[in-house]
Amino acid sequence: MVKFDFREEWKPSFVVADETYICYNCNTTVCAKFKIKYEYNDGRQRILFCPSCNAPSVFDYQNEQIIKNVDYGNFNKVPENILNLYREICDCISVSANRGAFLLLRTLLAYIAIELDKDKQTGLKEGGNFTEYIKYLEDNSFFLPNLKTHIEKIRKHGGDIAHKPSFQPDREDIDSLMKIIEFLLHNNYEFI
Ligand SMILES: [Zn+2]
Repeated sequence: MVKFDFREEWKPSFVVADETYICYNCNTTVCAKFKIKYEYNDGRQRILFCPSCNAPSVFDYQNEQIIKNVDYGNFNKVPENILNLYREICDCISVSANRGAFLLLRTLLAYIAIELDKDKQTGLKEGGNFTEYIKYLEDNSFFLPNLKTHIEKIRKHGGDIAHKPSFQPDREDIDSLMKIIEFLLHNNYEFI
């Protein structure tokens, strides 16, 4: 979660920055050309300016970069409704909206199952049960058996988010689920 504390005035110090980071705008590892610091909390709240594209990158007092670069993947044959949702998940991740990303990952798996069923015609429909979609993907060998643990996490954590307001999925879990989604998209749309 983004955290700021603005109890004191900003004290602009346009100093040459000596730290490197990945600019969200040009996806380049850069050394900031200068930065504006907020002195409170050891100056961790700061804005760094990219020497390559001039975009400002904001960091909160936990040293979290507010907008991170995300890789939207290189998909050309994925249906538009699936691709749009995939990109929306990337946007959630770029601003650390992890719960939103996690819930949308579940929705995306359901979309993919329904879309894949258009060829098989088993009658899988929108608005069904999440377990049903997972079972469909498993029964039709769209998942490798070694991914079962991760899939089980999506199922369980989806319930945790719905019923426990304080629950936060790990970033690592989200990253591994994104890899599963990308695997499904590449295997079922790009390489055929
Ligand atoms: Zn840049």
